Amino acid sequence: MESATATRIQEHIGDPVSDSPEVGREKLEEIFQDIQSDFRFDHELNGCLNCGICTATCPAAHYYDFSPREIVQLLWTENLEGIYDAMQEKIWACAQCYTCAARCPFDNSPGGLIMLMRETAIKHGMESARNVLRPFSRVMLKLISTGNQLSPDMITADGFADWGPNVSKIDAPLEILRKAIPMPTLNTTKTAWEVNLKTSVELYTIWEETGVLDQLETIDENLFDVITDIMDERRDDLDDWLEEQENDDD
Ligand code: SF4
Ligand code: SF4
Repeated sequence: MESATATRIQEHIGDPVSDSPEVGREKLEEIFQDIQSDFRFDHELNGCLNCGICTATCPAAHYYDFSPREIVQLLWTENLEGIYDAMQEKIWACAQCYTCAARCPFDNSPGGLIMLMRETAIKHGMESARNVLRPFSRVMLKLISTGNQLSPDMITADGFADWGPNVSKIDAPLEILRKAIPMPTLNTTKTAWEVNLKTSVELYTIWEETGVLDQLETIDENLFDVITDIMDERRDDLDDWLEEQENDDD
C-alpha cells in the first residue's frame, strides 16, 4: 500500500515544464506533491473526461476568467507549471458551492481540489493567498476576541463595498433594533451572540492542533503576534476564573 506522502509524479509529465518557468522545477514539484499527498486528493479526483459539465454549472465561471474543468485538467495531466500559474489568481475565484461536485460524471470534486490548492498556496506563503486573506484579518481578530466571526457593528458601508448600491440597506439603527430582540445576549452590536470563555479557549486548542495558527503565521506574522497575545490573555482569564471557582467551593 502506498504511503500517505507517495506521489504519482512520473518521469514523463503530460505538459512539460517550459524552458523558463516562473519558479524552478523542484519548487513546482514540491507544490504539486503537497496537493497530491493530501488524503483527500484521490477521493476528489478520479479521472476527467474534459466534458465541461462542471464549468457549465459553475457560478464563478459565469463572472470570472475561471473554469473548474481547466483546473481539474491541470491536476489530472500533472501540468506543474499550469498548476502553479492557476494558484496565482484563478483558484481564488471559486465560491466553494460544490455544484461541480454534484454534477461531475466522474465523481470528481473540482471545488474540493481547489480547496487543496488554496491550502497549499497558504502553506507556501504565496502572494495571492496573502492578498486574498488580508481583508479577513479583522474577522480573525473578532473571532479570537469574541468567538464571533461577524458582529453587527462590523457591518458598515466601508467594510462591504462590494455590495454596491445595496450597501445603503445596512444603514439601519442597529443599536435600537438589537435591543428589541427578546434574548438579552443579543442586545449588543459588539457580538452576534455570546460565546463563553471556556469555549473560546477550546477553539484556540483546535486552531493550534490543526495547524491553522501555523498557516496564519506564514501568511501574516503581525496578525499572528496580535492574536497569540490575545489568546494568552484569554487563557490567563480562564485560569483565574477556574481558580476563583475552586476557592468558592472550598
Ligand atoms: S471534472 Fe468532471 S465535470 Fe469537469 S470536465 Fe472533468 S469529468 Fe467533466
Ligand atoms: S465549488 Fe467552485 S468550481 Fe465548483 S461550481 Fe462552485 S464555484 Fe464553481
